[in-house]
Amino acid sequence: MTQPTPPRPLHRDTLAVREAVARSQYGENSEALYLTSGYVQPSAEAAARRFAGDEEGYTYGRYGNPTVSSFEQRLAALEGTEAAIGTASGMSAILMMCLALLKAGDHIVCSRSMFGSTIRLIGTDLARFGVESTFVSQTDTAAWQAAMRSNTRLLFAETPTNPLTEVCDIQALADIAHNAGALLALDNCFATPALQRPVLFGADIIMHSGTKYLDGQGRVMAGALCASQALVTEKFLPLLKSGGMSLAPFNAWVVLKGLETLDLRMRAQSDQALALAQWLQDHPAVSRVYYPGLASHPQHVLAMAQQSGVGGAVLSFDVKAANPEQARARAFAVLDAMQVLSLSTNLGDTKTLAAHPASTSHGRLTEPQRQAAGIGQGLIRVAVGLEHIDDIKADLALGLDPLS
Ligand SMILES: *Cc1c(COP(=O)(O)O)cnc(C)c1O
Repeated sequence: MTQPTPPRPLHRDTLAVREAVARSQYGENSEALYLTSGYVQPSAEAAARRFAGDEEGYTYGRYGNPTVSSFEQRLAALEGTEAAIGTASGMSAILMMCLALLKAGDHIVCSRSMFGSTIRLIGTDLARFGVESTFVSQTDTAAWQAAMRSNTRLLFAETPTNPLTEVCDIQALADIAHNAGALLALDNCFATPALQRPVLFGADIIMHSGTKYLDGQGRVMAGALCASQALVTEKFLPLLKSGGMSLAPFNAWVVLKGLETLDLRMRAQSDQALALAQWLQDHPAVSRVYYPGLASHPQHVLAMAQQSGVGGAVLSFDVKAANPEQARARAFAVLDAMQVLSLSTNLGDTKTLAAHPASTSHGRLTEPQRQAAGIGQGLIRVAVGLEHIDDIKADLALGLDPLS
């Protein structure tokens, strides 16, 4: 879980393919996949030292695995943190972070626009164990400040958000956290380190769902926390050992290889998303497009500063309609007319995925809650993939053109 010192500072593109290649005696060029639950110990004394934490060395699959370590080191190198720890999924990374850093009576401030399961985990599940939480506007920095209490230990944000691509000011939130002696954690799933490195803006912990763009081809579940060596070794690793949110070696291997093409994919898919956003903006059946790369986006300037000038691969749009019933029917018609794109609530794939948030990811909210969140019945989210842009437009036009 430690990062070796490279012979000279290497560029991040190089680290994405070269960092943490621990070759076995066979000299394989591609990273080995170590499928093993246990490890043979060199001696009883060595085993005792390893279990006591006095000596490096693998002991048991729940505690660590060489393939998982490679993924952790490479991701840490890309995010620019000292260390990282892999987990079974994005949600288990959040669970690990909260269990490791919070206790009953502690308080956490989060954005109201966070991933649905994150809101459920923190606002409902952890509340049963006495963890207090406040959910505030994603974009209103003053509201984050106003929510701070003497027992606030953690601020947790996600930017851009799903599905409306709202952007928060990472540096401003880091300052609020640090002035209060709290930490800022940032869910970097949407932008990934290819576009956004939250440590540069003061974030202390970077959380990932490896399931999304790190894998990037929709194959496995994975997660990670990137942070200082002290947080990883003293806070997260003990919880991994007792809690068992361990990342499977096979999944780690898939995501490790995914990191090699992350930059290329994120830039290509973001180019496609921008082209699609511009096309949708001019379509007569579309009333509004949400995409940070568009000048019309309310936080466009901030997004460009934080995200290397790139908007990311996810956009949403509203179909024009007279009322919510018609909006829902029209959105369904657009999705059901697609012949090439996938009707799927996932994201982070080379295949373009489209979904209707109001009836799926945000289906458990009441209608007033949904309206407060700005998620209308006519909203369609598109996670743009690598098909030819003309084929993506043509597939959406099948449903959109008859509406105008
Ligand atoms: C998918 C997702 C998660 C949860 O990750 P899993 O790997 O599905 O557990 C958390 N945050 C964001 C922004 C996501 O998109």
